[in-house]
Amino acid sequence: MKRSGGYVYIIGAGPGDPELLTIKAERVLHEVDVILYDNLVSSELIEQFDALKIYTGKRKDRHHFEQDAINEEIVRHARQGKTVARLKGGDPFVFGRGGEEIAYMRKKGIEYEIIPGITAAHGASAYTEIPLTMRNISSSVAFCTGHPLEKIHVPDADTIVYYMVASAASDVSKALIDKGKAETTKVAIVQNATRYNQKIFAGTLGELKNRDLQVVSPALLILGENINEFIADSWYAKKKKVLIAGDDSGRYTPRHHVIVRYPFTVVKSIDNKEVRRCMEKIGDYSCVLFTDFHAVGYFFNALVESGRDARHLANASICVTGKKVSAELLRHGVKPDYSFDAGNIVEELRTVRGDGFSGEDVLLPGSGSIDDPVVNALTALHNRVTPLQVHVQGLDSSDELIDLDCIDEIYFSAPSCVENFKSFYEAIPENITVTTADRETGMEYKKLFRG
Ligand code: SAH
Repeated sequence: MKRSGGYVYIIGAGPGDPELLTIKAERVLHEVDVILYDNLVSSELIEQFDALKIYTGKRKDRHHFEQDAINEEIVRHARQGKTVARLKGGDPFVFGRGGEEIAYMRKKGIEYEIIPGITAAHGASAYTEIPLTMRNISSSVAFCTGHPLEKIHVPDADTIVYYMVASAASDVSKALIDKGKAETTKVAIVQNATRYNQKIFAGTLGELKNRDLQVVSPALLILGENINEFIADSWYAKKKKVLIAGDDSGRYTPRHHVIVRYPFTVVKSIDNKEVRRCMEKIGDYSCVLFTDFHAVGYFFNALVESGRDARHLANASICVTGKKVSAELLRHGVKPDYSFDAGNIVEELRTVRGDGFSGEDVLLPGSGSIDDPVVNALTALHNRVTPLQVHVQGLDSSDELIDLDCIDEIYFSAPSCVENFKSFYEAIPENITVTTADRETGMEYKKLFRG
């Protein structure tokens, strides 16, 4: 029988710290065509990979339906012959629904493999210095879910880790006492484990049940006598959390700092009517101009999604700027008719065409910030230009802003970084140390934030 093609990797991304990705996962993520990622996977982690990125964050209210849709999405991409990474927070087989995904793929005859990840319990344990087992204190450990509350289990284990406890952290403590756990049992709730904004709520079950805990997701609860008294002073808590805007040229080191890069310029797909409508009449364009590396992959994805392929571009001349864009286009089986080295492409087009380049229908796939000068210059020559947004680049509403309350220092490497930062943050809290690369940057900072 002929294989349906495609290949799927189900990958655990680890609990948050991007360096907790395995070497195998990193290699594979560099190789795949598409990455379908969860809301627990940080933008910072995936921005380094060139694959097409599709966010599959689930909404609480429609859990089941959404998982079906994700299963179908994985299979749909695989059936197009692509190599697909299904990237999940932590480990795929620890409350990760990886089991359901492989069952679906088996049913559909799709080949796959699984790459484990560091589960949140292990991340939280290491970054808060809570050993999960310890000689003479704890000889067994269990992973449980804290949700739904009515069904909570209390297994006979010395250390118990409860996942999914955020919104009901004090109620979970209450439920555990009701099930027979002593009020004096030590407990630690770890929120955002292994991330710059890791936060710990520690005490006894009796204490936590009465506290109005403002715990946000993701958080887990660890129960056991091996919770150290120095939990608030862990090696990770002690590291300075530095937000770097721009390039610090190695000034800050992971040995001494937790480095948070700003902004996260993740590139991801957008699904909109305009893209679909444009693909329907793709044959009408006489020229397609690619000036953006990422736009190539997203453009071809949209083309294939619409049931078409490169043959539908047969009547258009294909122009690119830059070797990297050109190579990316070749990867999709299309050799550009014209390839320029950036510079003034409109002028170059006029020259090579001889006839001056006018009266054409030009399609310009790109991101939100489409090259206005190119659009204007082409329009001035009486061409009909369609800028088409095929992907988004940079922060958008689904990305979280950095929580400045968890930051100790901010570094700005250039005045433009200060300016950009100002467009997202009105103010910088007084207790944050601000360091600037040079005098100009310092002046810009004073003007915009301390003026
Ligand atoms: N497959 C994941 C778990 C997914 S279920 C894993 O192996 O870690 C989602 C739950 O995981 C969250 O509700 C929370 O309890 C836990 N979790 C995931 N990442 C976490 C983090 N960085 N800090 C604390 N808890 C986390």
